[in-house]
Amino acid sequence: MAWFKKVRKPIEPQSDKPSRVPEGLWVKCPSCGEIIYNKDLAATLSVCPKCAHHFRLGAADRLRMLFDGEWQEYDNGLRSTDPLTFVDTKPYRKRLEASIEASGLNDAVICATGRIEGIDTSVAAMEYGFIGGSMGVVVGEKITRAIERALERRLALVIVSSSGGARMMEGALSLMQMAKISGALGRLDRARLPYVSVLTDPTTGGVTASFAMLGDANIAEPKALIGFAGPRVIEQTIRQKLPEGFQRSEFLLERGMLDMVVDRRELKASIARVLRFALASEARRRPVVAVPGISAPDAFVPQP
Ligand SMILES: [Zn+2]
Repeated sequence: MAWFKKVRKPIEPQSDKPSRVPEGLWVKCPSCGEIIYNKDLAATLSVCPKCAHHFRLGAADRLRMLFDGEWQEYDNGLRSTDPLTFVDTKPYRKRLEASIEASGLNDAVICATGRIEGIDTSVAAMEYGFIGGSMGVVVGEKITRAIERALERRLALVIVSSSGGARMMEGALSLMQMAKISGALGRLDRARLPYVSVLTDPTTGGVTASFAMLGDANIAEPKALIGFAGPRVIEQTIRQKLPEGFQRSEFLLERGMLDMVVDRRELKASIARVLRFALASEARRRPVVAVPGISAPDAFVPQP
């Protein structure tokens, strides 16, 4: 009865022939579908040349983009000790090890000092690739030290946020970092040193609720997701449909939550402009004539 029986060919095993297209040479823009050569993307600071979609940028690339040349990194040896011996789908310790292995970083932030258009600046750039850029004890400590470094040496401060919020694997200890960093920023403010907060996709949770929104200028990249709780949680809580573009940079700018939304290709120049403006107005405020017997505050002349 083989007439009616379709003889099925077994599924062929995957051929061992390697693909002729090497991995990771091209990327597809999730916004416009354009296929972009990786090297071209690096040249445009990971912004799609066709539709200006901003791809996420790692912390090291961020520093490379902001600083004029060389920079000095600090505290890169700090590691979390897993204080709660936390286990979710896998032990936190294992998760940390895997992230350290994959990213080459010890935690989700790089802190450095260098020059931005000639202005001496302390910069902290967060790395989303490291456990979602979450803020644990190490991130909190490193950012606080970056602020204190700015205080000691009278540097300007820039923090680039890219984070899912506080790191739940460190529980309340990670929440305490919000207060610690905010306290240090308060001291920076009283010392009249400028702080520019750069919010990139995504900036959420405890990071938004603390230092990301405390800048003298809060600058976001276009279409970045910025919020505290996610839209689904808010919809369920307030039982209302959220408006179009909710929690995106442009929406927040319109409602006064941000000062600027700046294309990444113009970001460095914009930050430098803000810092120059802040430093120049601070220099004007200082007494010009030195009073005998009273030491004048450190000269703080803005760079040309
Ligand atoms: Zn595109």
